[in-house]
Amino acid sequence: MRIPFIAGNWKMFKTKKEAKEFAEEFRTLYKDTDVRTAICAPFTQLDTLKEAFAGTSIGVGAQNVHFEDEGAFTGEISLPMLKEIGVDYCVIGHSERRQYFNETDETVNLKLKKLLNESDIVPILCVGENLEQREAGSEKEIVEGQIRADLAGISADKVASMVIAYEPIWAIGTGKTATPEQAGEMCAVIRGIIEELYDEDTCDRVIIQYGGSVKPENATEIMNMDEIDGALVGGASLIPQKFMDIINF
Ligand code: PEP
Repeated sequence: MRIPFIAGNWKMFKTKKEAKEFAEEFRTLYKDTDVRTAICAPFTQLDTLKEAFAGTSIGVGAQNVHFEDEGAFTGEISLPMLKEIGVDYCVIGHSERRQYFNETDETVNLKLKKLLNESDIVPILCVGENLEQREAGSEKEIVEGQIRADLAGISADKVASMVIAYEPIWAIGTGKTATPEQAGEMCAVIRGIIEELYDEDTCDRVIIQYGGSVKPENATEIMNMDEIDGALVGGASLIPQKFMDIINF
């Protein structure tokens, strides 16, 4: 039985002051639910959120990690640094990182292995096709290629503990949502790939989210699809009431 999981991705939004204000308001709205909840924030706001959400079941996630423990990697953040803060999740391979920061399936794979082998931090692996690929009808092939490469050498028990977010690039931050059927179909495709690569148990346990312009108005329809276990929410997670309404889908 998979527990629904709704995670916010703040991207590069919110200063410390703004994060504190969000957390204060969100805590007053938040009631313990059966839905797993987390916010993935910029690095400098992680400790603020950990502190603000202490004593609640709201998780805190980072949006990236380096695959080395330390070294001459200016501008990067390591796993020991995230562990020290106590983060619960880490987004890996977001399309914005793949598009603007040279993230490749190879680095995604190294980062996943780092997290899964050396911490309890749950990776949220993002995969998805761009508009051109969707229009060419190659979305399944693209996503399959990403999953195979990103998970190479990772064992079934580790995969079962992670989260995969299907995020069609054409639906991220564009206001264009995939229809619930399109989203459900691709989440089913991903589950099928996991079954083929691993086994039925792993495919039954892995959490698969949809991400791409999820908002209170479409959350119920999306979450009602059998193959969708949750959502990765960008823009709408920046506003406490909106994010809460999605959690209460
Ligand atoms: C995201 O940042 O992963 C995302 C899905 O953004 P949005 O909800 O704004 O489309």
